[in-house]
Amino acid sequence: MENLMDKLVALCKTRGIIFPGSDIYGGMGNTWDYGPIGVEIKNNIKRAWWKQFVQCAPNTFGVDAAILMNSRVWEASGHVSSFSDPKMDCKVCKSRSRADELIEEFCEKNDLSMDVEGMSNESMQDFINAHQIKCPKCGNFSWTPIRQFNLMFETSRGVTDDNQNKIYLRPETAQGEYVNFLNIQRSMRAKVPFGIAQIGKAFRNEVTPGNFIFRTIEFEQMEHQWFCKEGTDMDYYNEFKQKAFDFLLSLGFKAEHLRFHDHEKLAHYAKCACDIQYLYPMGWSELNGIHNRTNFDLSAHEKFSGKSMSYLDPFTGERYVPYVIEYSIGADRLMLAVLCEAYDEEIVDGETRVVLHLHPSIAPYKVAVLPLQKNLSSKAQEVKDMLSRDFMCVYDDAGSIGKRYRRYDEIGVPYCITIDFDTLEDDTVTIRDRDTMQQIRLKISELKNYLSDKVNL
Ligand SMILES: [Zn+2]
Repeated sequence: MENLMDKLVALCKTRGIIFPGSDIYGGMGNTWDYGPIGVEIKNNIKRAWWKQFVQCAPNTFGVDAAILMNSRVWEASGHVSSFSDPKMDCKVCKSRSRADELIEEFCEKNDLSMDVEGMSNESMQDFINAHQIKCPKCGNFSWTPIRQFNLMFETSRGVTDDNQNKIYLRPETAQGEYVNFLNIQRSMRAKVPFGIAQIGKAFRNEVTPGNFIFRTIEFEQMEHQWFCKEGTDMDYYNEFKQKAFDFLLSLGFKAEHLRFHDHEKLAHYAKCACDIQYLYPMGWSELNGIHNRTNFDLSAHEKFSGKSMSYLDPFTGERYVPYVIEYSIGADRLMLAVLCEAYDEEIVDGETRVVLHLHPSIAPYKVAVLPLQKNLSSKAQEVKDMLSRDFMCVYDDAGSIGKRYRRYDEIGVPYCITIDFDTLEDDTVTIRDRDTMQQIRLKISELKNYLSDKVNL
């Protein structure tokens, strides 16, 4: 669909799904606030994920680790020394660009093939000079030299502001699981293989343009670390690739909008890695990642903390440092993909109907309760109050019934219940399906069971 991203950004703002961050101050680049409708959708996405990867998963434990961690964690993980981007400033307009991205864009435009990831800062500098690659903001060619900028947000603890007190906002949630490996193994009597899952915020000081909530400086990760024995790691790696894919299908994604993308360039810790990409409006881009991180992380923490991270197999007596299969997906990025996948415009009775075909389990409200006329409002309120004990519901008596249907189609509400004069006589209501627009008549006493069946994932 043309301009899908623009349409989504506009719909999200007008319908209370997602607002620009700090809006009354003109916003702040790459930050977004979830509104009343958006927070419901996002919470439902997180719940669906937790259900699949913790509640219904074998031998898996949840944690909620602190965002601020001992700085030694980030030395052990390699983030202090190597989590950085090569950046340069335009001397004319002062905007900052990533050298590798400028080169990638240049190569794409000119049909050149280059291994940008493998380039040193010097060779990037030479390439940019040789091809006179200009500032994408103002079009001038006047760059400062390339400098490495660490992507971690720094802050300091306490009143004095010296390096002693420097701490970081975590750039990934995974370390919260690794540092709790021993705690969980002991407190939960966990036997390898087992998983630790976490949903939480992470922060990266990136200058890249965001594509709405695709790339933001503050974001939420949902991720799962599976601790296993070396030799079994590839089987689990493949299993998680499939589980990750199946999860997306269960949310209603079309298989042809998803694809695996194996990494050729690997991060320093990875034995193999792949993404599942989604066909966003701006093209195929990463939606989630599955990595075989070997025993890199636990071994590094063993070295830096001095605590043994080895596991003693109670059956074989063998001792080893487990391998880790990581599966990670951004809640915000998944939210964007869900919205892109759900958005549709249909012609109904000669008019355009905007509708979000959200899976009922992630819809913001499950039900809109609509009295046909205002004098039916007390009965309608009664039905709404009854259903609100089990489902997110909304009550609305403003405007024609047709306008109200459209209002709830636009934010993906799967069912509208209409209270009419027959309701007063026989305690039945009509229930309208968002996707088919068909209506059936049901007893009020049957509503709870009817809806429970439909809105559970
Ligand atoms: Zn410029």
